[in-house]
Amino acid sequence: MDKNFLIDKLHNDKNLNDEELRFLIEDDSSDDYLFEIADKIRKEHYGTDVYLRGLIEFTNYCRNNCYYCGIRRDNKNVDRYRLTKEEIMLCCEEGRALGYRTFVLQGGEDMSYKDEDMCDIIRTIRAKYPDCAITLSIGERSYDSYKAYFDAGANRYLLRHETANEEHYARLHPAELSLKNRKECLYNLKKIGYQIGTGFMVGSPYQTTDNIIEDIRFMQDLMPDMIGIGPYLRHADTPFADMENGSYKLTLRLIAMLRLFFPYALIPATTALGTINPTGREQGLKAGANVIMPNLSPVSVRKLYTLYDNKICLGDESAACRNCLEVRVKSAGYQIADSRGDVKR
Ligand code: SAH
Repeated sequence: MDKNFLIDKLHNDKNLNDEELRFLIEDDSSDDYLFEIADKIRKEHYGTDVYLRGLIEFTNYCRNNCYYCGIRRDNKNVDRYRLTKEEIMLCCEEGRALGYRTFVLQGGEDMSYKDEDMCDIIRTIRAKYPDCAITLSIGERSYDSYKAYFDAGANRYLLRHETANEEHYARLHPAELSLKNRKECLYNLKKIGYQIGTGFMVGSPYQTTDNIIEDIRFMQDLMPDMIGIGPYLRHADTPFADMENGSYKLTLRLIAMLRLFFPYALIPATTALGTINPTGREQGLKAGANVIMPNLSPVSVRKLYTLYDNKICLGDESAACRNCLEVRVKSAGYQIADSRGDVKR
């Protein structure tokens, strides 16, 4: 098969069969042409704008035991913390001053934040920052809970599906977690009216090319507004401590392919990508990504929200992160936008 021909075909009609997709995912020859086309598409839809999302990691308590994740319930080496509403509001204040117009509240599945607590936090942010988007990333909850958060003022929700294959899902998660429920959550969020984001780890343990093809097929059905992918990275205190990290090159290639499949999508150059390679996020932007999610958590808790080892930006003040990104984004040939950065369908 001819790689450039397939890239053009993907660009023109998105109608690749599984064999063609497999070839594009696995072929290790130069991705320069793929990146060039992905960048062209990105510029057609979003120009050279890069959107920042201030990430507030507000709790590292989690009821789940995902085999890959450093803050899994059974990891007794984690110092657990929770931010109060006041602490969260201070993060938002700092973020707004730095020009961020999206706040992402991310955490483990910490049920000590009841629906009324989440709604109170969301309502308070909504009232103080009417021009900002509020994104939640707090895992699986009921339809009614999601609806309550939406009515309180949340606009977006990030929930990676992790893998669209049942067997693979069962190798990454304990039996009490199901792909069926995760997918149902995503369709519920969409129905309620959230802008939704999903995604998966590249090179998670036992992942095959067929799994990645299934991930793409699933997302073609879901049509998410945002797609987050990053390399799987090991964490020493998990059952997967001895597993290989995901591939940097494959992550970049998949970012570019996702840009071709989903031209309108908001695609972050993730922290995991910046962790596996010092200029990974810049390369991610050049491969079709258009979002970066700088850390807005208080420096005192940053090292406690460790999903994987060697995470970057642990010691930096939020303002330093902002300045650092300004330079990095510029060096890649783009600029930070000051708009909210909603999806452009
Ligand atoms: N509890 C929330 C937030 C999870 S953290 C939820 O369930 O959605 C956000 C994402 O980090 C996860 O969805 C997962 O894809 C990613 N992640 C977790 N552990 C990781 C690891 N070891 N390497 C790379 N990414 C990881």
